[in-house]
Amino acid sequence: MNTQAATAANSADSSLSEAPIPMAQAQRRPRRQAQVRTGDHVLTIGGDAPVRVQSMTNTDTVDVIETAIQVKELAQAGSELVRITVNTPEAAAAVPAIREQLDKMGLAVPLVGDFHYNGHRLLTDFPECAQALSKYRINPGNVGKGDKKDKQFAMMVEAAIRHGHKAVRIGVNWGSLDQELLAELMDDNARRAHPWDARQVMYDALVRSALQSADLARDIGLDPNQIIISCKVSGVQDLISVYRALADRCDYALHLGLTEAGMGTRGTVASAAALSVLLQEGIGDTIRVSLTPQPGESRTQEVVVALEILQALGLRQFNPSVTACPGCGRTTSTTFQELAKQIDDYLRAQMPVWRERFPGVEGLKVAVMGCIVNGPGESKHADIGISLPGTGEAPAAPVFIDGQKAMTLRGEGIVQEFQTLVEQYIERRYG
Ligand code: SF4
Repeated sequence: MNTQAATAANSADSSLSEAPIPMAQAQRRPRRQAQVRTGDHVLTIGGDAPVRVQSMTNTDTVDVIETAIQVKELAQAGSELVRITVNTPEAAAAVPAIREQLDKMGLAVPLVGDFHYNGHRLLTDFPECAQALSKYRINPGNVGKGDKKDKQFAMMVEAAIRHGHKAVRIGVNWGSLDQELLAELMDDNARRAHPWDARQVMYDALVRSALQSADLARDIGLDPNQIIISCKVSGVQDLISVYRALADRCDYALHLGLTEAGMGTRGTVASAAALSVLLQEGIGDTIRVSLTPQPGESRTQEVVVALEILQALGLRQFNPSVTACPGCGRTTSTTFQELAKQIDDYLRAQMPVWRERFPGVEGLKVAVMGCIVNGPGESKHADIGISLPGTGEAPAAPVFIDGQKAMTLRGEGIVQEFQTLVEQYIERRYG
């Protein structure tokens, strides 16, 4: 574009725009739907089901009580499926007892068994474990080598069929990619006139490993709707590349996650970046955010991040949203930061009870703003909002309810008074 054309394009024409700006919206991808059954409770994945949130325990599965408590915490935080490690005969023997504990607590959250190396033996030798689990995760790179590989994979799929066509996630991970398949594809690539980048061969190996295993599971007799696929890698651009290819090549429900995302801010941002791009394109039917907990941090943080990603994209609504400005030189006090945090913490803490008492409350929008510049405007867009005084402004905080200025709060008790107003609003609107 030359300078003249650019100037014309940049000018704000006062005439009416010819067409509205299209609204961004996450796409949906047509795919199969799996049913994950726990007693009478059925959780659907894929098809028209909402994107589901998963998590995984880090307790020793042999410790029934510790594991059941952590599953409960994860489920109460919003995890709709919880995966547990099943790595030894003792762990397999503990699984029915964990299920029983959860049933006693009235928690129908499905348990997913994570198997590597010896899953064929554990699922065969411990039928009560195979039955108590609602879904199995099989890693095709870890089921065995050489001629044992297909046989041991088949034993696991046969267990899924025997126990009522359990849902099965065929979960490939580049840290444990089938090395025989990768070597074969690398050899084939070397014979190409124009060989691909080694990374692209690896992408192809991940996708092929998953889809070949899915074909094999179907040949054995597993209902194809019960197959869920994942191909996890730890790089954001790698994940996007691999899942776009997967979505092109199959119609299975897809489980999405950046493996070994890392700790804290880095892991959170990397997961949000990768998952958001794919979810916006309609790719991903369940998600897990694989965060390494900081020392002392709750395991539930990975669930909190997963819920926030889905809510930020407008795919699901779990908690009331609190819009808070970042603050700037116009506000030198921390009052509005404290108020925003207190309101956010308060809403989260109340949600388990409110969800039952006040249907629809998760759609509530609250604004907590720092000064008069954007405060009144943003507060009017919220269901209930408060605009706190910036430095040098009159010590008064107007409150807006349903877009109208309702009152002005003053003095030391603003935080408590605003919290009471939020409670009253919720009672009135959702009660
Ligand atoms: S609303 Fe006021 S305090 Fe908050 S960021 Fe904008 S100008 Fe700064």
